[in-house]
Amino acid sequence: MERKRILITGAAGFLGSHLCDRFIKEDYHVIGMDNLITGDLRNIEHLFKLDNFEFYNHDVSKFVHVPGDLHYILHFASPASPIDYLKIPIQTLKVGSLGTHNLLGLARAKKARMLIASTSEVYGDPNVNPQPEEYWGNVNPVGPRGVYDEAKRFQEAITMAYHTFHGLETRIVRIFNTYGPRMRLNDGRVLPAFIGQALRGEPLTVFGDGSQTRSFCYVDDLIEGIYRLLHSDYAQPMNIGNPDEITIRQFGEEIIKLTGTDQQLISLPLPTDDPKQRRPDITKAKAILSWEPKISRSEGLKITYEYFKSLPQKEIEHKDFTYFNKQ
Ligand code: UDP
Repeated sequence: MERKRILITGAAGFLGSHLCDRFIKEDYHVIGMDNLITGDLRNIEHLFKLDNFEFYNHDVSKFVHVPGDLHYILHFASPASPIDYLKIPIQTLKVGSLGTHNLLGLARAKKARMLIASTSEVYGDPNVNPQPEEYWGNVNPVGPRGVYDEAKRFQEAITMAYHTFHGLETRIVRIFNTYGPRMRLNDGRVLPAFIGQALRGEPLTVFGDGSQTRSFCYVDDLIEGIYRLLHSDYAQPMNIGNPDEITIRQFGEEIIKLTGTDQQLISLPLPTDDPKQRRPDITKAKAILSWEPKISRSEGLKITYEYFKSLPQKEIEHKDFTYFNKQ
């Protein structure tokens, strides 16, 4: 039987690379695309020798051409950490808006099913906890996170419009905080930040009083949820995340214990518009996809810590943002 052909944008990134692995494992022909601003080819270099993997170095904000048939498109290209989208706000807006439009056009031309990576950021700083898909959110469009949040909200809107107006098969996953191997150690997110600090023997920087909450999902659980959503017939947005909620201060204590560092937590100012609470309501994923996370935080954190520990010392010591050198 002919292999199904799937285009994965953001293929060299954290989630994109795990998706490439999963679809290769399921015997798809995987076409990866990435402009490598925040992605890293090392995440997918093990795939280049395969005859069912191809890679295009391309910015999807520009017209996208892929020769041959396409059955599925997964749009995962985007800066995704607050530090990244503060540093490259215009690219963040463009990849979520223009990039999504280009890929929807491609999906239509190829009669492909398209799944877009949305985010819990569409809920902004939520007034409802946990957040069900029906909640419309509390977003500041002109704050520092607005470039990401509004691009993702536009992305959902245009995807839904292609679904209703053009009859395109679409799926929308709202991804909550996810962690695991291949996260960038210097992307500014709380987990790599804390583990990097522990490995360097520095204090762990808690922003604000650390009473804000997050709910962390291990990457393998998330990928399973996305895989099931793609193959479902559900076109409305679907939360995928782990509802196990924790304060950032407690999370810091857990990392101190995990790493055995003799360092303590220190406080730094809370960034503007930092959400105070975040926890997915996964009632829909449970009912429609029979999905729920399986990997506990303690299990997932151990695997992730081993990954960061195995990185070259030079990389662990290097605290600056390197991706500008690549542009
Ligand atoms: N945070 C922190 N110290 C850090 C980095 C982040 O206390 O060194 C906090 C941040 O203020 C937020 C939470 O950890 O409340 C999660 O931040 P992250 O950047 O990982 O992602 P977000 O969920 O805010 O998109």
